[in-house]
Amino acid sequence: MTKKIMKGEKKLFYCEECLLLYKEKEWVEECEEWCKKNNDCNLEITKHSLKEVYND
Ligand SMILES: [Zn+2]
Repeated sequence: MTKKIMKGEKKLFYCEECLLLYKEKEWVEECEEWCKKNNDCNLEITKHSLKEVYND
């Protein structure tokens, strides 16, 4: 399940596996799918992230 968070005014999504933040839901879904299957990050996907991880 894709998680949505609010950061300031912006709505962001994060990967449940690697916690990387994304603006686009499409990329989060790709990232989660990849992370779950490979237990690793795919640069082709993570380059679309904000290069920041979610932490509360
Ligand atoms: Zn991920």
